[in-house]
Formats: sequence, C-alpha cells, structure tokens
Amino acid sequence: MPEKTNEQMNNELNITCTNTSGNTNASNRTDAVEKILIVDDEKLHQYSLMELMKQNNCDVECVSSGDEAIEIIQNNNIGIVLLDLNMDGINGEDVMRFISKNDINTTIIVVSGETSFEAAENALKHGAYDYIRKPYSIDNLLNSVNNATKKRQLEADNHKMHAQLRESEKLHRYIVNKSPDIVYILNEEGRFTFINKRIETLLGYKVREVIGKHYTELVHDDDIEKAQFKFNERRTGNRASINIELKLKCKNNDHPRNFDNRILPIEINSVGVYSSHETEDNKKFIGTYGIARDITDRIEAEEIIRFQAYHDMLTRLPNRTLLNDRLSQALTHARRNKTNLSVMFLDLDRFKMINDTLGHIVGDHLLQAVAMRLRHCLREGDTLARLGGDEFTLLLPEVNSKQDAKLVAKKIIKSLTMPFKIDSHELFVSTSIGISHYPEDGESIESLIKHADIAMYSVKGNGKNNYQFYDNKMINAYSNHLSLENDLRRALDDDQFEVYYQPQINIETREIFAMEALIRWNHPDRGMINPGEFIALAEETRLIKQIGNWIFQNTCAELKRWREMGLDDIRIAVNVSAIQLEQYDFVEFVLDVLSKNDIPGEFLEIEITENTLMHDTDDGILKLRELSANGIKIAIDDFGTGYSSLNYLKRLPIDTLKIDQSFVRDMSKSDEDSSIIKAIIAMAKGLNLNIISEGVETEEQLEQLRTWRCKNMQGFLFGRPMPCIDAVDMLKDHAQIKMHIVE
Ligand code: C2E
Ligand code: MG
Ligand code: MG
Repeated sequence: MPEKTNEQMNNELNITCTNTSGNTNASNRTDAVEKILIVDDEKLHQYSLMELMKQNNCDVECVSSGDEAIEIIQNNNIGIVLLDLNMDGINGEDVMRFISKNDINTTIIVVSGETSFEAAENALKHGAYDYIRKPYSIDNLLNSVNNATKKRQLEADNHKMHAQLRESEKLHRYIVNKSPDIVYILNEEGRFTFINKRIETLLGYKVREVIGKHYTELVHDDDIEKAQFKFNERRTGNRASINIELKLKCKNNDHPRNFDNRILPIEINSVGVYSSHETEDNKKFIGTYGIARDITDRIEAEEIIRFQAYHDMLTRLPNRTLLNDRLSQALTHARRNKTNLSVMFLDLDRFKMINDTLGHIVGDHLLQAVAMRLRHCLREGDTLARLGGDEFTLLLPEVNSKQDAKLVAKKIIKSLTMPFKIDSHELFVSTSIGISHYPEDGESIESLIKHADIAMYSVKGNGKNNYQFYDNKMINAYSNHLSLENDLRRALDDDQFEVYYQPQINIETREIFAMEALIRWNHPDRGMINPGEFIALAEETRLIKQIGNWIFQNTCAELKRWREMGLDDIRIAVNVSAIQLEQYDFVEFVLDVLSKNDIPGEFLEIEITENTLMHDTDDGILKLRELSANGIKIAIDDFGTGYSSLNYLKRLPIDTLKIDQSFVRDMSKSDEDSSIIKAIIAMAKGLNLNIISEGVETEEQLEQLRTWRCKNMQGFLFGRPMPCIDAVDMLKDHAQIKMHIVE
C-alpha cells in the first residue's frame, strides 16, 4: 500500500475532530471537544495509531488497558474509541459492555488482530460501529473514522433539531394558552379538536370538556343561526368571516358574554392539515381554525356611551334628547287615539342659593336626592327628565284629564316637604311646577314645553312652591319677566323703589304697635309692581342684597322721623330674605343703621320665612342670636307653610310667629285650616311666643281669631299697605282704626 502524505490523509479524513462550534455532539456533553481514544496494550500499535490521528489534527488520548479506558470514557468527552480486543484484565469486549450498559454515547471502532468472523460478529453485536483487522489499511481506518465522525455529526444535528422543535412547540403552546383570546380548531364536522386554556377563564369550561363537543353547544341559542358557517368557516382568504359578533354560553352562567369571532380556515395556518400528496386544487376540508376574542368591555363601553347620549349623568334621568323622543312618540299616540297628555316643567325654588352657599357638591347631592324622590311620585310610562341645572321636565303620557296632572303635581310638592339630609346639612327645597296639557295648550313638543315653562314662571312670581296650569294670559307676564331683570338692575340707581307700610294691630288695646315695611317698585313703564313679581328675581340675581340694604336705610330713616314727631312707641317690621342674612356683615350693618338713626333695637322686627331659616346653617342662627341680643325682634313670617321642627324653633331666638294668610283666608271653609291656626296659637303660647295673624280681611275672621285668643292682627281690614305719608296720617289718628274694630 503506497504511503500517503499527511495532507492527502487530511483531505480524505475530511473531518474536524476538534469541534470548534461546539454543537455537533449528540450526547449531553455536546459542547465539550470530542476526543479519539486509542486503547491498545501493544505500545507500537498504540503509537502508530496515535501518530496517524494526530497528523489529522485529532485530539487523541492513548491508554494500554481496559481499566484505564473505562476510567477515561466515563469522565471525558470521547467521541470515538479505537479499541483493541485482546488485552490482559478487562478486555475490549468488557469495555464495550460497559459502554453499552451505561448508555455512553461513544462510537467504537474495533481495531483487532482477531481475524475470526465470530470475533467481528460479536464486536458488532456489542455495539461496535466497525471492525478493522490488524494489520489495518490506513485507507480503511481513515474511512471508518471519517464515516463514524460524519454519522456522529448527523446524529448531533438531528438531536439538536428535535430539541429545538420541542422548545418551539412548548413556546407556541405557551403563547396559545396565554393568549387573551380563545384559540380553537374544529374538525370537518364542527367538533372541537383543539381549544386553548383561555376557555377555562372566559367561559368556565375545562379544555377536556370541550374537546369533541360540537361548536353549537357553546353558542348562545339566540345566535345559533348567525354562528352557522361562521364558527365553522369553510372559506379562506378575504372571504372568511371576520369580526362577527356572537354570544357564547358560559358554564353555569346565564349571562352570555359577547365575543368577536375571527374564524380562519386551516389553509391560512401551516398546522399540517393537508396530506402531502394533496394539491391546492385538490384539497380536502378537514376543519376550521378560529380565534374568539372577549369583547365584553367594548360592549359595556358602547352601552355607557349610548346611555350617556340619552341620560343626565348626575341623576341618571333621561336628558332632553330622550325626553323629546318620548314626547314625540306620546304625541303621535295621543293624536291617533285622541287622548290627552300633560307636560310639567319643574324648577326647584332657591336651589341656586343652596348651591352657591353650600357648594356644588352639596348641590349635586341634593339634585340626586330630589330626582330620587320625584321618581317615586311617578307611574310606569311617565318620563322624568333633567334638562340641566335644577330644571326637571315630566311627561305624563296617560292622563285622562287635568285633574290627573293636578294630583301628580300635588304629590310632588308634598314629597318635597320633608327635609333632605345631605352630608351634614338638613336642607329644605320646594318646587314650582308649570303644567301644559295636550291638546289645549299646544300640539307640538316645543309649544308644550314652552307653555309649561311659562306656567312655571307664573308660579315663581306667585310665591313659588306651587303648581299652575298654563293660561294664555301668562305670556305677557312671562315676556315681562325676561325684560324685568335688566330693569331691576337700573331701579336702585334710578330711585324707583318705595316703601309702603301696613299696620299691625293689637285688637285688645286697639293700638297700632307696628308697621310692616313692604317694598313697591315704581316701574317707569309698567307702573307699580308688587314684590311678588320681582323679589324672586332679585334673589336669583342677588340684587336683593342692595335692595334689602336700601330698605333698612330707608325705613329706619323714616322711623327716626316718626319718633321725632312723637310717634315713639311704634315698631317697624322689615322682611329679610335668606340671601341678605348670608352677608357676613349683616349684623354689623343693621346695628349701624339703627345707631345712626338713634333707634333702640326693640323698635325693629325682622321677618324671615320659615324655609329661609330651615335651609340655613348655624351661621344664620348665630346672626339672629346676635341681633336678638341687641334687642331686635325676630318674627317667623308665613308660618305654617314650610316645615319646621319644634326642636329647630327652640334653637332660634324667635319672638313672634306670623300665621300665614292662606290659613286665615280659608279658615271659614276649611276645618283643617282652622285646626292649624288653633294649633299654632297653642304652640306659640306653649313656647311663650307672640302670635300675629296675617291677611285679616273680614270682621268674621277678626271675630273668629279673637275667640281663639289671637290678639295681634294685620290685614286689609285694618289697612292696606300704604305710602309713607298715609302711614303717618294713620298713626297720628288711631281713632280711625279703632272705628273698624268691633268690640
Ligand atoms: P309678607 O311679608 O307675608 O307680606 C304680607 C303680604 O300680604 C303683603 O304683600 C301684603 O300686601 C299682603 N297682605 C296684607 N294684608 C293682606 C290681606 O288682608 N289680604 C291679602 N290678600 N293680602 C294681604 P306684598 O306687599 O305684595 O308682599 C309680598 C311678599 O313679598 C311679602 O310677604 C314678603 O315676603 C315679600 N316682601 C315684601 N317686601 C319685601 C322686602 O322689602 N324685602 C323682602 N325680602 N321681601 C319683601
Ligand atoms: Mg312679612
Ligand atoms: Mg306673610
């Protein structure tokens, strides 16, 4: 055999025994460099093999016995073993047995002097890769080593590929299972062959429960038809179903969640769904791949947006849009069936004041509480809407007559009489209600709402806390109201106000003991305007502060003149609204005016209405106490029309209760009113308060009140509110009044 050069041998060997990339080994010790181990007890053989391998750049190690071989094989990364069989002690076969028993990934090439067939057969049986007889041909040996190395490399690559596949499968499974969407595969019958774990959290089914089920078992009954050919989509590409909304059934849950189903056919996904011999044209449908996304949040958000478009978010009542919609439907119905309907416009009295004094948060809470109470006054089918601010509109689509609407209005007014507990406040609100009735008061949405609004304004102008039906005559007053505000601003500067005085009489002594100051407005175009028409506006615009101050200054200056004339036992009663009382320097101001006019405190009485006080805070009580401490008298005006707790009255420094004129007016007709008056008188006696009846117009009323032991009275019977000059005349001539008193 001709000798080969090292270079030739290298080319032939064509292997890299020293594996620099480090990944071609199949064993777990893959990254270490693989060595060739030469095991031969004959030194000469050992040496020549070693030289041969070294010339081929192999990392070689040599041992002379089986023991040493086992030792090295166990602890080193040996790729190929060139193994002699006949050795003393542990021989080649033992070494092979050891390798196979311990499942060591080493390739054995036996290089032996044994020439028998059995020996070769035996060696191969024990796991040898090749059997080369000594004396070996270099070519043979190098070929064998070369082939073994290639085989090992292939095995290593294969192993690595499998490991990578396993990893990537694990990763995909992880991604699929962790997906926020349900991922599923159906077979050609529409049964689940795969579903990810998301089904467990979203629908409550275990994966194993779903596998094998037909998809229709998961689809909500409402949507079965819609789901057909969407859930088990057969089409591909652009024609496949996308973003179809369906409802699926949750396990043990009656509320279906909404799903956005994107069902893709298997063609799109390379998940091994075609047999390799099948062509695109000849494909066989074997199932559906789909992704279902939970869109509950989106559906909820859409519902909120829809709700917001038709509701007032503070009270959750319908808004103007929804009201108009319902009103339009109700009108169509009423026209067709020739029935009636009513529209009410409600505006809370003095809400603005509460909002301004106690803040928007309290105001908002109050509106919510009011809305709740109003809701309880309604029947099914009625629509209560909030149009903004403190304005509510009520549609009564089924009323037989105005009488029905009247009952509802009364119910609403009554429902608001009890105080509201808002945060730490006890608040009193009332409402003014205007009512328009279809068909008399309008046939369109606009005219019905507008006329109810006008009627509401009329209530405001007539003392609030009441209801009124629309009347054509109100239009004038309404348009007047609109221009009144501008005029009111000018009235003070232009000196258009005047104070009228009305006497308060003690019928036992027949004396006028006080004069109530009542404001009048000499409007340049409209003539004399009564306070009922502008006080509310003055309060809303807060002009009442300046107007009120003007009244104090004016009446006190007047009283000073009276006192200088010798009329020095007359008291003056001045009406004060809540907004005036709010002024931080109110007490100082009043005391200052009194002292400038040399008037002792007891000659001034302040009249406040019940509700003014009730809504007010401790601050108001403190101010009244301070005024009282300075001798000033406090009277509760229009007593009996509001809501007073006795406890509350006890906390106030009250001197007088003024029985509201409505009771006096109706006492002859109504037992209820008589009882109220008697009860108020009894209560006043019990609390040691003065009592005065307002609005006494007839002798009959006078007599009746006298028998109930009410000695102080005020009313047209004794004198209407009159200009100052007339009041002075009256005071000067008591006899004139005494003539009216029947003993
Ligand atoms: P009020 O304080 O209860 O005043 C009594 C009202 O009843 C007065 O109406 C008076 O003219 C009227 N009146 C008196 N006797 C009779 C009678 O026998 N029969 C009838 N039917 N009515 C009678 P007026 O002057 O129109 O005042 C209405 C309300 O306006 C007052 O009710 C008071 O609350 C308010 N007001 C009047 N002047 C002022 C003021 O200067 N400041 C404030 N804040 N409010 C005022
Ligand atoms: Mg009064
Ligand atoms: Mg009164």
